[in-house]
Amino acid sequence: MINNKEIIVKKKRYCKICGEAHYDGIMIIKSFICDNCVNSITNEEFDDKQYEDMKNKIKDILF
Ligand SMILES: [Zn+2]
Repeated sequence: MINNKEIIVKKKRYCKICGEAHYDGIMIIKSFICDNCVNSITNEEFDDKQYEDMKNKIKDILF
């Protein structure tokens, strides 16, 4: 079985948030975010400062 994700993500991309290269992740607009960061965002496992940093980075991507 080939799913859409395997078709789209064939090579490593640099994550907009952590800056590391990963195979797995999502595209928001034209920016790649790796699964690790997506999980971090959705789990909200941040202290307040990390959460602020993350919000600012996501704003940079979206606006
Ligand atoms: Zn990342």
